[in-house]
Amino acid sequence: MAPSAAHDDRRTPLPADAHVHSEWSWDSGSDPDAPGRMDRTCAQAVRIGLPALVFTEHVDLDPSWRAERGDLGGHADRYVGGDGYVHVPSFDLEGYLENIERCRTRFPELTILTGIEYGQPHLHDDLAAGLLSRGRFDRVNGSLHTLPFPEGGGSEDRTEPTTLYRHRSPADVMDSYLAEIPRMVEGSETFEVLTHIDYAVRSWPAEIAGPFDPRAFEEGFRSVMRSLAATGRALEMNTRRLWPWMPQWWAEEGGRAVAFGSDAHVPEGIAGGFREAAAMLEHVGFRPGDRPWDMWRR
Ligand SMILES: [Zn+2]
Ligand SMILES: [Zn+2]
Repeated sequence: MAPSAAHDDRRTPLPADAHVHSEWSWDSGSDPDAPGRMDRTCAQAVRIGLPALVFTEHVDLDPSWRAERGDLGGHADRYVGGDGYVHVPSFDLEGYLENIERCRTRFPELTILTGIEYGQPHLHDDLAAGLLSRGRFDRVNGSLHTLPFPEGGGSEDRTEPTTLYRHRSPADVMDSYLAEIPRMVEGSETFEVLTHIDYAVRSWPAEIAGPFDPRAFEEGFRSVMRSLAATGRALEMNTRRLWPWMPQWWAEEGGRAVAFGSDAHVPEGIAGGFREAAAMLEHVGFRPGDRPWDMWRR
């Protein structure tokens, strides 16, 4: 009798979810439902048979980050000040590490790794150096969340694509986003995985620009991938939205390593789309490592 798909699922271990947030991330911690979220996320991992998790909490250090009300969404909007600048609480490393240790004791069957999602590393390595050495994180994900925003009025102002789309043409915002990533890759060696290459697509204004067409920005995406591949670093297969072209172009541009990341901010979101993502990656030659938290390589 042929084994059922469900049976196969149990035999093939899922890769680690290497991009997960808990109440120790500023944008999750503002949620009244946040306390205990790291524990509940671990319990969910055990429930679905996920062998390993990396809690990569936000570290965003932009000193002049502009936003407009509603841009950060939900409870996080409270951090948009009356002055139009975002003021987020700093990362509580000690509280986070204590929670990690409690979860390791409570969930011995789960491998729990430490990490951060470090925003704009090319701009803040001096500021982050102390945290990075104290934390000795298992994984540092590098993210580009903001772009220069001279329209904001201050010379150092930056803002998220979601805000910028109201000030510039959609294509210009996307081009700017993709042009800055190679500068981030060249400007910082402190991150090992580039997260959500499609971050600016999340807020793409389809109502004025039509559905997002990756082929219109193919050269920009490929040039990001070439710059990252040249350093030997990994691209995240961010499963919030699954794009077959992403692993395909990454392989064609010389990419060798991939990490899986759901970018979940709630327990139910972990490992979302991982089976489909794994199939896409296998199709272009990526294979698992020995341990669930190893990068997939080709
Ligand atoms: Zn992010
Ligand atoms: Zn994230």
